[in-house]
Amino acid sequence: MVKMHVLGFPRIGGRRELKTALESFWRGDCARAELEATCTALKERHWSIQKRSGLSFVSTGDFSLYDQVLDTTAMLGLVPPRYGSTPAAVDDDLYFAMARGDAARDLPAMEMTKWFNTNYHYLVPEIWPEARPTLARRRLVKDTRQAREAGYLPKPVLVGPITYLALAKTYQEGFSRWEKLGAIVEVYAAVLRELGELCPWIQIDEPILCADMESEAREAFLPAYRTLNAAASSARILLTTYFDALDDNLDLALASGCGGLHVDLVQGRPMIDALLERLPEEMVLSAGIVDGRNIWKTDVMQASGLIASIAERIGPERLMLSSSCSLLHVPVDLIHEQALDPQLKRWMSFAVQKCAEIRLLGDMLTGDPPALSPGAHAADVHSRRTGPRVQNEEVRARCRAVGTEMLNRRSPYPRRREAQAWLDLPLLPTTTIGSFPQTGSIRKKRRQFKNSEISAAEYETFLREEIRREIEIQEDLGLDVLVHGEAERNDMVEYFGERLEGFCFTENGWVQSYGSRCVKPPVIFGDVARPAPMTVSLSRYAQSLTRRPVKGMLTGPVTILCWSFVRDDLERSEVCRQIALAVRDEVLDLEAQGIRIIQIDEPALREGLPLKRRHWGDYLGWAVEAFRLATAGVADATQIHTHMCYSEFNAIIASIAALDADVISIESSRSKMELLDTFAVFDYPNAIGPGVYDIHSARVPSQEEIVALLERALTFIPQERLWVNPDCGLKTRDWPETVASLRNMVAAARVLRAARS
Ligand code: GLN
Ligand code: ZN
Repeated sequence: MVKMHVLGFPRIGGRRELKTALESFWRGDCARAELEATCTALKERHWSIQKRSGLSFVSTGDFSLYDQVLDTTAMLGLVPPRYGSTPAAVDDDLYFAMARGDAARDLPAMEMTKWFNTNYHYLVPEIWPEARPTLARRRLVKDTRQAREAGYLPKPVLVGPITYLALAKTYQEGFSRWEKLGAIVEVYAAVLRELGELCPWIQIDEPILCADMESEAREAFLPAYRTLNAAASSARILLTTYFDALDDNLDLALASGCGGLHVDLVQGRPMIDALLERLPEEMVLSAGIVDGRNIWKTDVMQASGLIASIAERIGPERLMLSSSCSLLHVPVDLIHEQALDPQLKRWMSFAVQKCAEIRLLGDMLTGDPPALSPGAHAADVHSRRTGPRVQNEEVRARCRAVGTEMLNRRSPYPRRREAQAWLDLPLLPTTTIGSFPQTGSIRKKRRQFKNSEISAAEYETFLREEIRREIEIQEDLGLDVLVHGEAERNDMVEYFGERLEGFCFTENGWVQSYGSRCVKPPVIFGDVARPAPMTVSLSRYAQSLTRRPVKGMLTGPVTILCWSFVRDDLERSEVCRQIALAVRDEVLDLEAQGIRIIQIDEPALREGLPLKRRHWGDYLGWAVEAFRLATAGVADATQIHTHMCYSEFNAIIASIAALDADVISIESSRSKMELLDTFAVFDYPNAIGPGVYDIHSARVPSQEEIVALLERALTFIPQERLWVNPDCGLKTRDWPETVASLRNMVAAARVLRAARS
């Protein structure tokens, strides 16, 4: 009988129960016991879903109070010294201090970054020379015991030691993180010895095997797994890889001595033949066949064909069926979607539905009568691929007709610079990134409008009033290039998705982003077209209020793509091109209506990068092309801006330059302007505004410190090409600190301007 399982179930709850419980606990509104009760109920519900779907195991250890990587840090007792000396046990207070910081002790949270190429953020582990790993948190064993006692067959899930260490940060020169591997593996071994008595399989996630691995990591791999396999004793380790093919690391994985290997057949299909040829006799293969990162129904006909051919080669008893990766990356249950267009809903599958799909595939393989009808399933999949709603001939024709002349501005940057002199900007021009504080009253009005409690006209009047007020504030501050403030936007992708064809929105399609934070990505199901201008009237209104230029503000095609669930029946590069054409139309409409500066934000450009560096060029090629397609139609005299944040951009600076935006504003103050080091070796050709203060905190930067940062920037960037702006949009800030910070920023620019012109 073929075994079936998922690599992990979303922990947040179909109605975001975990979010609610955590936030109320943090506010002090509910007791620890109450939070624990919610957690227990959620875990049991998720186990029961997996069991009722007919899966062979239920996952434990996929549940977390904040993040599974932080759980590993806590398990290993690797508490960074600034949080105090490592105690024998990491309790919840310490755990949350690492997760969220501790205001009372003036301690910031641990650093956070994106989990491989997903939108999930984990807390970055730290390793230092004196670190002493010890078993300091035992939640995984407890949860696994709890599952057993409740009558389930648990399969514990751990972040593997090689991935954990590879993702860790070290700060000491000359110290290698791999020195600590032995001690870390000992702690894992202690946990495995306990787990081994509770379950037949232990899942250890090593997605790093699908990425570029440094040679120390590769060398450390086999000895570590020798110890782990011995410790697991009668239980077998399922070595789990996902997000890409194993490629160069296939042989390493096959030599691990583990009882099973899980591979992602959604993102890594090309390697299946090599894999089947070399799979050792005693190794089980877990086939990740149901997409754990997207929301579409599985093509069961195609999947079952692939599964049958694998089963034929290795025998069904050596095969497990699973999700490609943890279901953490998809929403919980379609049952919560009452307003979704029924046809679109039939195309989709969330975590609960994906469990049932895995079972269906198992039934199809064994010939058991399935609970779901494969025929009906296949019909739904087919109707999405062929339906008239997904295909727009006009859009297809436009995409085919894109020629290189559409990707290039009329003149090179130096000529455009001259053509843009009419903007009459001073040296070191000051500006902001787009949004101003999203106050309670703005959010309230937007909610009222969405719920039809106020009319469109009333809402419009409110927005115009808000814009007028914000333009006045900016004039008063003396900023040079103004913005309209984005009060009408809940989210920079959703706002555009709601105005474009080919998109739809769920009511409860929440996916955990970090901790208690969730996002509800738009869904791109069909060809993307722009039926009407999206931002022109408010932009025009804003510009009508002032003689200074007001930037038109758009979200770029790559970011819209990266932050959505994207159809899987068309190449991502094609979908991106369709979005780019829609944005291009908007850019040209703005220009025609007298908007002289247009900013197209691409904060997600970097996170779309594939896991392996050798695939970067292909992605960057089409991503850069999409941006250029969106922007290159304007006249030389129109100034194109872009903005980037959320990560370090040093590695892709050449591609950023290739966007050929006239001006880029880019996050840099959090990394202490580390970005500037890049300019010592890379001569960035156009104008650039490295962010001069961090907008993630309420702290008001002083005029002096901004002057100092700008002076540093001026050693790398010629003054004619340097702009002055914050790191990012100001929507999460309050007005008093915003005004105070911008006042200091403008004053700093004036000091330097006076000294230099
Ligand atoms: N224009 C957007 C804003 O100011 C940019 C947001 C972002 O970079 N994430 O909010
Ligand atoms: Zn930003």
